[in-house]
Amino acid sequence: MSKNYVVGFPRIGEQRELKKALESYWAKNSTFSDVEDIAKDLRTRHWKYQQNAGIDFISSNDFSLYDNMLDTIVMLNSIPQRFIGLEDEELYFSMARGNKSAVAMEMTKWFNTNYHYIVPELSPNDEYKLNSSKIINEYKEAKELGIKTKINLIGPITFLGLSKRVDRGDCYTLLYKILPIYEELLEEISKLDDDIVVQIDEPIFVKDNETKILSLIKPTYDKLANISSNLKIIVSTYFEHSKEATKVFVHTPIWGLGLDFLYGDENINSLEIIANSDKVLVAGVVDGRNIWKNNIIKTVELLEDISKVVGKDNIIVSSSCSLLHAPFTLKYEEKMAQDIKSWLSYAVEKLDEISLASEIFFNGIDSLDSAQKEMLESNKNSNLNRENSSLIHNQEVQDRVKNFSKLQRDEKFEDRIKIQREELGYQDLATTTIGSFPQTPEVREARRDFKKGELSKDEYETQMKKYIDDCVAFQEECGIEILVHGEPERNDMVEYFGEQLDGFGFSQNGWVQSYGSRCVKPPFIYGDISRPKSMTVYWIGYAQSKTDKIMKGMLTGPVTILNWSFVRDDKARADVSKQIAIALSDEIDDLQNAGIKIIQVDEAAFKEGYPLRAEKIKIYEKWALRDFKISVSSAKINTQIHTHMCYSEFNDIIDTIEAMDADVISIETSRSGNELLKIFKESGYKQEVGPGVYDIHSPRVPSVDEMVIQIRLLLEVLPKEQLWINPDCGLKTRKWEEVKLSLKNMVEAVKIIREELKA
Ligand code: GLN
Ligand code: ZN
Repeated sequence: MSKNYVVGFPRIGEQRELKKALESYWAKNSTFSDVEDIAKDLRTRHWKYQQNAGIDFISSNDFSLYDNMLDTIVMLNSIPQRFIGLEDEELYFSMARGNKSAVAMEMTKWFNTNYHYIVPELSPNDEYKLNSSKIINEYKEAKELGIKTKINLIGPITFLGLSKRVDRGDCYTLLYKILPIYEELLEEISKLDDDIVVQIDEPIFVKDNETKILSLIKPTYDKLANISSNLKIIVSTYFEHSKEATKVFVHTPIWGLGLDFLYGDENINSLEIIANSDKVLVAGVVDGRNIWKNNIIKTVELLEDISKVVGKDNIIVSSSCSLLHAPFTLKYEEKMAQDIKSWLSYAVEKLDEISLASEIFFNGIDSLDSAQKEMLESNKNSNLNRENSSLIHNQEVQDRVKNFSKLQRDEKFEDRIKIQREELGYQDLATTTIGSFPQTPEVREARRDFKKGELSKDEYETQMKKYIDDCVAFQEECGIEILVHGEPERNDMVEYFGEQLDGFGFSQNGWVQSYGSRCVKPPFIYGDISRPKSMTVYWIGYAQSKTDKIMKGMLTGPVTILNWSFVRDDKARADVSKQIAIALSDEIDDLQNAGIKIIQVDEAAFKEGYPLRAEKIKIYEKWALRDFKISVSSAKINTQIHTHMCYSEFNDIIDTIEAMDADVISIETSRSGNELLKIFKESGYKQEVGPGVYDIHSPRVPSVDEMVIQIRLLLEVLPKEQLWINPDCGLKTRKWEEVKLSLKNMVEAVKIIREELKA
């Protein structure tokens, strides 16, 4: 006996086949039936991978052409008004991507992952109606291949918890309307087979929930788990503990409960409750969202601990979450150093780990066949090799971190800003940009060719410098006051730094789905981090030499670098982050010594790193704040530090943001007028603020008038002395024509306002 389980599998394809199929169809180079053929082929291959690895519980309906929340929207027929009249794939992709007459539905992050789901837009007038075809068809498709799947669904409470209502009402009050659809669906599912397992994902319960929401569990699952005796309902949670909900779920007629024991360590304390119920425990013990090879022996130990409380008969060994959040397979990693590669495991490799761990746990090491024994040996060896590798441990770095004592800048903001304003001489409402300028096809091509060795270093540098020259010339001509070099040499704000820091690795095929057809390939941090040489001084210094105006230097902050990488699992995140911070503090010192007077440290991902549970927030804030401050601690009194954050909701975190102690922060408020800025005033925020005055996420060129109005709104909240004027994010995704017009209008608007203020 051995029972193992995979919460869900990636669907993008081992070589991103789904991405390519979708994008070719969207570009009208192929038909929808081509997409369907490829999708079917992928599902088959993905099921086979799992079957071959010996996985007992394999999912259907974990596949999606775009997103599972969107699939659920279709399943419930909760179609927003503006898409009514469309059908099938046209409807589906219009909701996801918009069309000529209707804007796309909003997208947001799936819990604390980098996956983005489509946010349902609900209205009390919705008429829900079951559309079960995708779910039923996928089940049958697998069955035809001889694979009996469990069926994955997003649970009704999570669905509502992640929705928004067009009338701003409470989504949960619509439960009574969507529940009958789920009941009807389960009834239909129950007819598919003699007995059937349905995994209902309710990750909303890993967040802090009000009692009101917890109280929805019992009535909902008393119904859903009672539809038919041949249905086994497993409620799945992941990314954190769900201890409050567990207490309730055990009193419903569900068959099993899936808990994450890696990211929700608190779950271990719920075992008693489960043991005292008749529930099956789907134990998430193999990391589904990292890239490191699991330590099989440790996993089995964890399982043994669990089985001290919950009987083995009631345990199923599982991934901690869907493998969607891991890259697909190591098979295509041809360039990676062998050592490093042997430390990794992606989704396909994790299947073997789940299978092996469950075999050992249930049947003992002696039961392993020779292939499994070999796998276990190699697992032990690679973990040992990793632990002792000189690639990982850098004594010098560790000593420096231990003794590092410069935790913040020496002078108070009030003293710094006086000197800075004097020396830098910028006016009130100073104009600047967030850093990047349009990434033209030529720039991308040059970077690519240089990387491939097809473009010489000289030639490459000449091209980059030409870009910088033009960029500087434009900003001068336009009348922007604080200039930037435009970031042509960077393809990505984390990768650029990762490539120059020791301790970072890169993959060829480590793609992870981010949204729809889009994937990201995060760098991974495997060892102690150090900076062999300066990373930005060459380019920024060059740019500064081309102008008499102030050139702002651009860095990515420690917390963002960490949050957008796969992080080593043998060291606390806080410790890794501190190493990055120290490396950055050296970079800042180099920049100021090279004559750079303003340096921006971007923390685009500071907020998204916040833990799901309030109880962990203090710890996160403590080290995240510490490390931002360390990274800028080398800045002298007259070096002005800016930071940039890609969001606008600061209500919960304003004190932390203020404590970061940047001299100037630029933020993304352009889409919310001045509403969200008010918190800066209410909290008595002292530092200077650059609230984006126009939205760079759209190609639209904002008019002078529009920005005049926007600036007046800002001035209602903060005094002119405290305000900077800038777009709301980097301009790299825009076209030069748009950027030129928009920035000229922005500078014009500032002139008008300055005149107004004089009068
Ligand atoms: N300096 C970066 C840029 O302008 C900042 C981008 C970001 O924070 N997302 O592209
Ligand atoms: Zn931004």
